[in-house]
Amino acid sequence: MNYKSVKGTADILPAPAGSIELRQAMESISQDVFQRFGYREVRTPIIEERSLFVKSIGEETDIVTKEMFSFKDRGEREIVLRPEGTAPIVRAYLEANLHKTDAFQKFYYIGPMFRAERPQAGRMRQFHQIGAEAIGSGLPEIDAEIIRLLAALLDAMKIRGYKIRINNLGCKDDKAGLSKTLRTILDKEKNALCDDCKKRLDKNPLRVLDCKNESCRTMVRSVFKSVKFLCENCEGHFKKVLACLDDLNIKYELDPFIVRGLDYYTQTVFEVTHPELGSQDALGAGGRYDNLISDMGGPELGAAGFALGVERILIVAAKQEAAAYPDDKKVIYIATMGEAAKKKGFGLLDSLRGGKWEKKMSFDMDYENKSLKAQMREADKLGAKLVLIIGDDEIAKGEVMLRDMMTKEQQSVKFDDVARTIKGKI
Ligand code: AMP
Repeated sequence: MNYKSVKGTADILPAPAGSIELRQAMESISQDVFQRFGYREVRTPIIEERSLFVKSIGEETDIVTKEMFSFKDRGEREIVLRPEGTAPIVRAYLEANLHKTDAFQKFYYIGPMFRAERPQAGRMRQFHQIGAEAIGSGLPEIDAEIIRLLAALLDAMKIRGYKIRINNLGCKDDKAGLSKTLRTILDKEKNALCDDCKKRLDKNPLRVLDCKNESCRTMVRSVFKSVKFLCENCEGHFKKVLACLDDLNIKYELDPFIVRGLDYYTQTVFEVTHPELGSQDALGAGGRYDNLISDMGGPELGAAGFALGVERILIVAAKQEAAAYPDDKKVIYIATMGEAAKKKGFGLLDSLRGGKWEKKMSFDMDYENKSLKAQMREADKLGAKLVLIIGDDEIAKGEVMLRDMMTKEQQSVKFDDVARTIKGKI
């Protein structure tokens, strides 16, 4: 074979080669949960102008400096494959003037994101996120709802053992103050920092706080403990968020070293990790971004959101046997013997496919004149609950032989009664 998928990308095939069924189940579970929480879907384009992310995520962030797939289109415009979902949704919200009709809106998205990172377990160049954004409110209840929603999604997907860690970065001024303080404290200990952090100290000192390098971690943990940087307002906001989470019985840990890599975060930030994930242990993350809407030319409105990594959830699901999300589809197979039966079966197949069904159904038959034994094997492989067998005898009597694949019981059913009988048995 001459062609392979591009490095860091993967095909998502049906079982047993792949696991598209699991993803579809995850998407459908997510859609149900989002609906319960009043979030509506938005689908933004895969490509965006580069400047959207430079402005929102920040010029000095890893994503912007080294991880975006960017190119110039024929009109010399700088285009990127979207690396994340928040900035595009805020752009879409402002572009459609949604803030003028009803400023507070709750959205969700499910789709691919692209980052040119070094591929490894749990880290792809095309990966998928399930995310939510509650735009237009600065209220602490929203921070709590967003975290509740994230937990509800993971619970509905039967993911157990995840940990939610929360921090508050404060408002823009608090963040600036903290950066300044960190620069001053850490400058004295510069030699203990890794090369990346030495650069960060200058441009984005907050990032030193979540550096994974052991020496940076130890040093930062020894000097950072007593730094107080939140203004009264932000402290009050955070207290209310935590009180709401307590009311909702959500378990969390406070972690002053969560800063999130992106510039737009203010106030509450959080990460969800899972011990089954190894070094790339984040299942998802999010937080409040109260300045992004105005920074992008909109009004002063608060917002909060999160994104969960689909591939990471699948890694955990596989290890926890949660991978068996309920597949409630009922498969019906038509097995035929002879040309006349095949013709009859083909017609029956089409009328069943076009019928009204309350449950999720799948109907299939063999077109290749396989032996009855081979057709029964195929029905078994597809997980058929019922098989409708048609041969010359059945055609003569205007019936099908209906076989229950679990109980192995068979019964004759008149053609006109087939749909009704199936309904009674599924
Ligand atoms: P971030 O926007 O970087 O916080 O990403 C949110 C979530 O998306 C992470 O917690 C991961 O679960 C997932 N994620 C981010 N980058 C990647 C990647 N390169 N490959 C797979 N999943 C990713």
